Order: sequence, then structure tokens, then C-alpha cells
Amino acid sequence: MDSHETLKNWAGNIEYSTGELDSANSVEQVQEFVKSQPRLKVLGTRHCFNRIADSKNQFLSLKEMDRVVSVDKTERTVTVAGQMTYGQLCPYLDRYGFALQNLASLPHISVMGACSTGTHGSGEKNGNLSTAVSGLQLVNAAGEVMEVSPKKDGERFLGSVVGLGALGVVTNVTLDVRPSYQMHQYVYENLPLSELTRHFDQIEAAAYSVSLFTDWQKQRINEVWLKSVVDDKKKFDAPAEFFGGKRATKNVHPIAELSAENCTEQMGVPGPWYDRLPHFRMGFTPSAGKELQSEYFVPRKNAVEAILAVEKLRDQLSPHLLISEIRAIAADDLWLSPCYKRDSVTIHFTWKPEWDAVRQVLPVIERELAPFQARPHWGKLFTVPAAELYSRYERMADFVQLCRQCDPQGKFRNDFLNANIFA
Ligand SMILES: Cc1cc2nc3c(=O)[nH]c(=O)nc-3n(C[C@H](O)[C@H](O)[C@H](O)COP(=O)(O)OP(=O)(O)OC[C@H]3O[C@@H](n4cnc5c(N)ncnc54)[C@H](O)[C@@H]3O)c2cc1C
Repeated sequence: MDSHETLKNWAGNIEYSTGELDSANSVEQVQEFVKSQPRLKVLGTRHCFNRIADSKNQFLSLKEMDRVVSVDKTERTVTVAGQMTYGQLCPYLDRYGFALQNLASLPHISVMGACSTGTHGSGEKNGNLSTAVSGLQLVNAAGEVMEVSPKKDGERFLGSVVGLGALGVVTNVTLDVRPSYQMHQYVYENLPLSELTRHFDQIEAAAYSVSLFTDWQKQRINEVWLKSVVDDKKKFDAPAEFFGGKRATKNVHPIAELSAENCTEQMGVPGPWYDRLPHFRMGFTPSAGKELQSEYFVPRKNAVEAILAVEKLRDQLSPHLLISEIRAIAADDLWLSPCYKRDSVTIHFTWKPEWDAVRQVLPVIERELAPFQARPHWGKLFTVPAAELYSRYERMADFVQLCRQCDPQGKFRNDFLNANIFA
């Protein structure tokens, strides 16, 4: 036994239902451990805001297995142990001359925790982080090792990647890589909302990755973050004004009052992809620290309508809100990905840590976004009922079937999965 302490998630809003935490150092140890336990959950870096990772019985950590297994230069893939973080992986990959297509706002999270929950960055041509997965090694409920790949398993692979921790313990994950690249980013302040609604497509197409931060006040986007690849012929040329927004004259934080020291370098300074794609730097607190988060994916074609529907709620949101972020993500084929078969735009909320108030506001937002079949982020706070989730995920029944094959007795299920997936 490693630990019996009280365990909390990163934000501290969730105290997990058991303190029983063991760790494994090899695939064989994972197999033995899984065989010995009636119920368990894998804990990643604990960055989810809801109870998706929770267990009443037993946790398993793969932290000691945070290593690169192999780099295949010909196939352009890297295989890593599931609990490696992007912060560990990216500088290593870069030294080999390789890079990932995209990253989330922070590098602190584990690769498999992120891919299991459909975590994403921004960029209308970029899929979420799970779209980089090209193979999984999974220990199922019987303790058997399964290698899952697109070639061998086809549809079954597409069902396994965004697995919500329900299929087993992912011991290794293979990711597609590309040649390393340099990026730079510029921030523009106070872009009028009217410009955004008129020119949404042009704004989203202006750079490799575009993030729009707003507090929904004063009919404006407070900050627009534009990240481009330095060698891209269509690279953003950083005029002094961008659709009415003014180019920032110093580095800024998405929450303007906070120190930009925690953020990746801006002002057009070139740097490696892994030090520009995330907003927040490894080794520093990402975002605000004391916060809650929610996020909804709507079809790209409804983006402007959905943004205006949320903007109408500004007076209800603002007392509890730190900042919102709007991002675009390309469609994919992964069954439980919130971007399944639809180009998407996400509307994200960083809340003050006031759950009693936030839980009242979420259903109001969800009602406004229901006409767009909004899919909530699997790792953030939402109140959408299971029946609605079912109707918004065409492949949910297939996913449940797949879970029953890998885990007939529900060894990897918890209350979150029982309520939202197996209800
Ligand atoms: C400050 C902050 C910023 C964020 N920014 C973004 C963002 O930009 N974009 C975005 O989409 N999300 C974002 N998130 C949400 C969050 O990062 C993800 O949902 C997160 O990646 C989860 O990874 P984790 O390792 O912390 O997983 P955990 O919370 O530890 O676990 C999540 C799930 O994955 C399962 N799991 C983990 N590892 C394994 C494994 N090896 N095998 C099987 N199952 C496993 C767990 O059992 C659980 O079900 C942010 C969160 C924070 C706190």
C-alpha cells in the first residue's frame, strides 16, 4: 500500500471517496493489481473538475511509469507510458526533431488522462489531443494485455481512445508526431463583439490556433490569442489592429489582473511549439488556481448563435465568472469525442470556486445551448442529464457494448460513469 491520505483533485473542489492509492511500475504489476481488485480507478494528474476519476474503493497510479517507450522515426510515432505528462514528453520529443500537432492550455496534464476525456487545444484545422492517438496498450478487467490499433481493430479502436477510464488501464499510448516547428503568438485586446459576429470565420482562420477570451461585459472580446507557425507561408503578420482589437504592448494573462509570468511568451517572440501552444508555462500555476471549470462543444456552424445566446446571460454569469474562452476544433471519428463528426466551437467558463452558485447557473447555460445539441467537456462540471447525453452521442450504445466486453463486471465503473453512461 502506498498511501491512505485524503486525496483531492488539482482544483481542490473534489475530495475523492477513498484514500487508498497504490502504484505500479510495470505492465506485469498492473496486470497483477487489476486481477487482485474487485473495483478500481486509474488516477492521472487529477486535473478533472468532476468525479469522473473518483473511486469508493481503490486508486491505481502509473506515475512511476512516466517514461518514453520508443520513438519510431519511420512511422513518425512516439509510444509513451500512459501517465507521462505533456510537460515531460514535449521537450524530449523536440530534442528528437519531432512535435505534436496541438496541446491544451497547460502542459501539466497526463497524456492518457487528457486523451481519455477528449481534451483539446484550439485551431479550426486541429483535432483534439486524442486524434493524435494511433495505438493503445490496455490492461482489461481480467488483467489481460490488449493492443488496440486502427489497422487491426478499426471501429473498436475509434471507440477505445476517448475511453473515460471505463475500458481498463492504459499502460502505453502511441501518438502520431510531425517534424518540430517554431511558433509565435500575438495578443489583441478589446475586439468588439459585433466584429466577431460579422467576421467569425475570418478571425478563426487568421492563425494556426485562435483563442478568444471574454468576460461577456461591454460587448467585447477582452483578449484574442493568435498562435502561428513561424515557417508557415500564411503566417499571421501581426498588424497593429485586428478587427478593431489593438495589439497588446506587453505579455498578458487571460485573466487580465493576474501576472503574465505564468504565461507562455507573447509579443511575436519565436519559440518551440511546446512553449507557445499552451497558454500556461510548465513549472507555474496554470489559469487562476482557485477555480472551477465548465465547457460546452457546439457545432461550428452554430458558433455565432451560441455565443450570442450565452452573451444574453452576462448578468447572471458575471458575478461568478473569472473568464470565458472560445476555441475552434476540427471534427473527428472517435465515438465519445465531443467533436465526433462535427467541426466544433467550445465555450468555456473559468468560474470562481463557488459551487453552490455555479450549479444554479449551469442549467441556465445548458438550456440556452440545448438547441445546438451542446456536448459538455467530460472532465469539467456540467448538469446535462444522461438521457440528453445519450441523444447527443450517436455511438453511446456502441460504447456501452464495448465497455461490457472489456469489463463485464464493471470493475472500472464509478458513480460518474454509472450516472452518465450506464444509466
Ligand atoms: C487549469 C486547467 C486547465 C485546463 N485546460 C484545458 C484545456 O485547455 N482543454 C481541455 O480540453 N481541458 C482542459 N482542462 C481539463 C483537463 O485538463 C482534462 O480533462 C485532463 O487532461 C485530465 O487529465 P488528468 O491526467 O488530470 O486526468 P484525471 O483527472 O486524473 O483522470 C481523468 C480520467 O482519465 C482516466 N485515466 C487517466 N489515466 C488513465 C490511464 N492511464 N488509463 C485509463 N484511464 C485513465 C481516469 O480514470 C479518469 O477517468 C484543464 C484543466 C485545468 C485544471
